[in-house]
Amino acid sequence: MNRLLTNVSLLPYNTFGVDVSASHVFCLKQPADLDDLQGFPVFREMSHDLRRILVLGQGSNILFTGDFDGIVIRNGIGGIKVIEEDSLSVIVEAGAGVIWNDLVDYAVSINWWGLENLALIPGTAGASPVQNIGAYGVEAADVIERVNAFNLETGQWMRLENSECGFGYRDSIFKRDLKNRGVICSVVFRLSKRAEPRLGYSGVREELDRKGIIDPSAGDIAEAVAAIRRSKLPDPALLGNGGSFFKNPVVGETAFQRLKGSYPLMPFHRHGELYKIPAGWLIEKAGWKGYRSGNVGCYEKQSLILVNYGNATGREVLDLSERISGSVASVFGIGIEREVNVI
Ligand SMILES: Cc1cc2nc3c(=O)[nH]c(=O)nc-3n(C[C@H](O)[C@H](O)[C@H](O)COP(=O)(O)OP(=O)(O)OC[C@H]3O[C@@H](n4cnc5c(N)ncnc54)[C@H](O)[C@@H]3O)c2cc1C
Repeated sequence: MNRLLTNVSLLPYNTFGVDVSASHVFCLKQPADLDDLQGFPVFREMSHDLRRILVLGQGSNILFTGDFDGIVIRNGIGGIKVIEEDSLSVIVEAGAGVIWNDLVDYAVSINWWGLENLALIPGTAGASPVQNIGAYGVEAADVIERVNAFNLETGQWMRLENSECGFGYRDSIFKRDLKNRGVICSVVFRLSKRAEPRLGYSGVREELDRKGIIDPSAGDIAEAVAAIRRSKLPDPALLGNGGSFFKNPVVGETAFQRLKGSYPLMPFHRHGELYKIPAGWLIEKAGWKGYRSGNVGCYEKQSLILVNYGNATGREVLDLSERISGSVASVFGIGIEREVNVI
């Protein structure tokens, strides 16, 4: 079967619903397929400039601003397997193409703990380390044991232990040194067999209380998180979007005190010695709540999410995002960084 396709529409492969195409798409089904990929003359030609290679999961954190003249590697490596187990924990390996929420469902169905707060995040298991996905007080880095990847530049397989992944807030080595180079083929998670509910984040305890659940299972927490997410976030199948467009800015003491002085009700979370300020709040206060212009706008329930109301181009979304970040900088004097990958 020919795994290297030409002139492929990427419309079904990005949650913003942007209509662009790729000159080449390679379908990766198993790690060994990467050997075949390297044998294609077009790969040898294009891999001189690694910006022409893009690994794609579900396209839920990507904004395409034009056609992609290069090779998109569509990661479809499946499989979830237990590779080690004792009475306290279980080590589970997920193929990079496994749908993230399927992995969460699988874990909570056995009452393994660790992934439940990350329920319903779109995307693949293989992308979870890339921006160190996080929600409801938990990050992928809390449960990732190691990542198995192939380095397209050196042709070497890499086994990166958690401490070697450079995890930070929505950040990892895969967004920096290994960007466009590291093809993640599987991710290994350490999950707990002991109940470890993390209910500190706003809304989860309340949702469980509402259902009368006092001693929740991992599945109860996953369901509560999913219910909250469904009530707050737009479903990309109905309204194109890439989740939070910007990261929450993290500021030092001086900037924090200056902002707090001007906006005493400003929400914030402590982030070690620093302060994390919700980007959605900044955007709203800068006047963007419910903004819509033509095909693009800010989601009515959460200004941090930019949406495609119809046939928006990636360029239109990007232009709106630049206007928003510019206005936040001029109102508050701080920058907001993009979370979504712009291609
Ligand atoms: C409605 C909505 C809600 C969201 N909520 C959250 C949230 O709560 N928390 C959160 O953290 N994120 C959230 N996101 C963002 C998104 O779900 C995550 O970033 C997710 O991990 C992206 O997975 P993906 O497979 O779609 O990756 P893609 O969008 O396809 O790719 C994202 C990046 O990872 C790289 N990549 C993907 N797969 C691989 C691989 N196998 N090897 C190497 N690089 C790879 C790509 O090159 C790209 O740079 C949300 C998105 C949407 C649309």
